[in-house]
Amino acid sequence: MGVDIERFLAVLADEVVDYQVPVVDLIAVQTRDPFKVLVATILSARTKDEVTAKASQRLFARASTAADLAKLSEAVLQKLIFPVGFYKNKARYLAALPAKLAEFDSQVPQTMESLLTLPGVGRKTANLVLAQAFNIPAICVDTHVHRIMNIWGFVQTKTPLQTEMALRETLPEEYWIPVNSLLVAFGQGTCRPVGPHCDRCVLTKECAKIGVTPRKSGRKGVAQGVERLVSWNVNGLRAAFKKGFLESVKEMAPDVIGLQEIKAMVEQLPESLQNLTGYHGYFYSAERKGYSGVAVYSRKKAKAVIEGIGDRRFDSEGRVLTLEFDSYYFVNCYFPNSKNDLSRLDFKHDFNMLLQQFIEDLAGKKSVVVCGDFNVAHREIDLANPRQNVKNAGFTPEERGWMDDFTAAGWVDSFREKNTNPDNYSWWSYRSRARERNVGWRIDYFCVDKDSRKKIMNAGIYPEIYGSDHCPVMLDFLL
Ligand code: SF4
Repeated sequence: MGVDIERFLAVLADEVVDYQVPVVDLIAVQTRDPFKVLVATILSARTKDEVTAKASQRLFARASTAADLAKLSEAVLQKLIFPVGFYKNKARYLAALPAKLAEFDSQVPQTMESLLTLPGVGRKTANLVLAQAFNIPAICVDTHVHRIMNIWGFVQTKTPLQTEMALRETLPEEYWIPVNSLLVAFGQGTCRPVGPHCDRCVLTKECAKIGVTPRKSGRKGVAQGVERLVSWNVNGLRAAFKKGFLESVKEMAPDVIGLQEIKAMVEQLPESLQNLTGYHGYFYSAERKGYSGVAVYSRKKAKAVIEGIGDRRFDSEGRVLTLEFDSYYFVNCYFPNSKNDLSRLDFKHDFNMLLQQFIEDLAGKKSVVVCGDFNVAHREIDLANPRQNVKNAGFTPEERGWMDDFTAAGWVDSFREKNTNPDNYSWWSYRSRARERNVGWRIDYFCVDKDSRKKIMNAGIYPEIYGSDHCPVMLDFLL
């Protein structure tokens, strides 16, 4: 049966009333000024709405017309619009814009052909300007419109341009202008690119969900005698708490969860984190306040706890916390970052070697599960842009070389044991909407000793769980 698009869009119109309004719509409504709509649209490409809003505000305070803009140098423009995505390119486009607009009497033109001659203006921008600035029927197809229309099966297309053309044929004209605002708000709030919230979506019964990977929640599929283990660099436990940490733990329902970068002393944590309901909490903070630190919550009480790896250089930074259970050791690690200038590369290597020795000693006694933020993407498949990062921290030959040696020594990367597909990441930069575009790195791991390879029942990543710049990773481990 075909999609009742008018009903779908009517349902969404009610649904998104309380959602955040896309920034360009907001500027269009507030200013009714085609110049500002054009500039804000250029700034908004590959940039979070909050960032675009602030950058637009700074820029418009200095240049609210093309004539004002002409007085600003490219360097000043860069400073004003930073940190929008591709700010250098955008500053160049803006610097060239007044001269180009002069060809149209310094007015924003009102046709697709003319708009496309402006610097930094592609079809998506031109459509948005036509729709929002001039109320001319135009369909702006961004990533959300393209994606969601395909998920619903209303179009079957490969590119946004194909989607635009298909929608021009099939979508009633009264929806051309509002469809972008509706689907951007809905795509940011519910039908997210990674891990859409089908569980709470108003369209869940009717949506075809074409190509959608359902969110992995609860303990479904965890067999008797298997424990669900989770690892998560929370990038500040107090911050993660404010972003729904408790709900996320509930959703994943782990038996044991190791956290890295808690950035807090236990006494600084709210009561509900000091005593997480249903879990025993173990904390190993760095001596320096607000830095590093690891913690583990476990449903079962640990038989023994080992803090650190016996070297003050690393132990003072709260990097390793080990819990001993009946049949295995759970080793939770926060590996050092080698830093942008690679000044901590040797420090990291020393840590790696000592940690490896530590877990090899443990593996002589019983199974070892070692998890955490390893701060290295092992192979090219483990990051979105390997070529651009060959000399960068986390992907240097030295760091990857250690990971080669580590796995060659028999330690098993559980995720790659179960999944050889690309595009699986656990960390995304906060900049340039990297997570939304899935431009990420897989630097969080669950590894097991070679004799425990057969105990890996399932291994995965929870990209749909937010609250940090890392997402949690998991392992179902046979006891
Ligand atoms: S049911 Fe899921 S895939 Fe379909 S629209 Fe809702 S969130 Fe998106």
